[in-house]
Amino acid sequence: MEASREFVYQKFTDYYCDPSTVIPEPNLPSQREFAYLMFKERFMVRHRMFDSIKRFRAVLNEMVPSDVYHSCAYYKNPDFDMDKKGWIGADLVFDIDADHIPTSCNKIHDEFRCVKCGFSGRGLTPETCPVCEAKKFETRTWACELCIDSARTEAAKLIDMLENDFGFSLEKLHVFFSGHRGYHIHVEDEVVRSLDAMARKEIVDYVTGLGLAVLDKEVPAGKKHGKRSSTRKFSLHNFGWNRRLKLGMEKFLLTATKDDLRSVGLRNASLLQNKDMIIKRAINEGRWESINGVSAQTWFKLAKCAQEAEASKIDTVVTTDIHRLIRMNGTLHGKTGLKKIEFPAKDLQTFDPFVGAVAIKKGEVKVLVSDVPEFKLGGKTLGPYKNQVVELSSAAAVMLICKGRAKVAD
Ligand SMILES: [Zn+2]
Ligand SMILES: [Zn+2]
Repeated sequence: MEASREFVYQKFTDYYCDPSTVIPEPNLPSQREFAYLMFKERFMVRHRMFDSIKRFRAVLNEMVPSDVYHSCAYYKNPDFDMDKKGWIGADLVFDIDADHIPTSCNKIHDEFRCVKCGFSGRGLTPETCPVCEAKKFETRTWACELCIDSARTEAAKLIDMLENDFGFSLEKLHVFFSGHRGYHIHVEDEVVRSLDAMARKEIVDYVTGLGLAVLDKEVPAGKKHGKRSSTRKFSLHNFGWNRRLKLGMEKFLLTATKDDLRSVGLRNASLLQNKDMIIKRAINEGRWESINGVSAQTWFKLAKCAQEAEASKIDTVVTTDIHRLIRMNGTLHGKTGLKKIEFPAKDLQTFDPFVGAVAIKKGEVKVLVSDVPEFKLGGKTLGPYKNQVVELSSAAAVMLICKGRAKVAD
């Protein structure tokens, strides 16, 4: 193995073999499938079963994987083939990853390269190569503070829904930094365990605001012939998404510019001139028809834009997959060397992943850095670096090597 990978492997080994390293035991470990990606061989070992974290730690010490997972599902026989495992239930899990969120950094720090033809570029990886239409890309990503900030915003919206609309107490929500550029939220409550994929899809639709009846533009059946949706009455009550739409409409009006209005198809400048009166009378008091010159159609447009702003941009596939493997709490992320770590839901805004998730504590090393923007790690601001040799903490060196942006200097 080349020297840089060997260095990372050594640091991962130190982490897993250190007796002071805490890897919390997942709930009901003997009913879960364990899996890990081999560091050197790059293959996934799956369908393993352990009745305690202690036994699994022995394997981690010996194998030192690059990534470690367990199933969200509970099985009668976690070590059997998929179709014979005997599904009992699953935690309800949400994955919020900057990969799925439009960010103000526009991911300009990410690079992609088509595996087939070599076409490359910066920003979000396209789904298909514009040159050869292949779908496989090599990527080089970065987790900047704007990426994390936008993931945090989406996580906050989700947590608010789980608490206020679904009724889970904050203490029952397990909130984690994922180790890369996002958050995981697990609900392990017994009431969710037996939900099938369809039921989970309903929850996903709620969280993403898909198919909100209140925004339905169709004229309900039974309406007199040809009545246009613009004559439909607009109203919102005070619960669930209705409340969220009102909050979103208020937020939008408070900060919108004329250009913002135009971008959602509204040209009525009096919306901004009279916004305080509009917010008070219409949004707060529900007198939607009392504002001269503001039609139901305008309210529908504003509500639609509030729906987009208030929806939480979760990775929908993760939540509906009842057999999903999810990164294990306390283990290292192979793309960063940071650990997945749990923190109280109430601390979402104050928990700094670039401090709290640093797992590799000791040592410095000289590395040749190719290209890195300014970044923060372990409370220090580092970089930017371009084609230079610098001495970094082991944690920073591991992150840059894992991200393909540095090598151990000879
Ligand atoms: Zn291509
Ligand atoms: Zn970013």
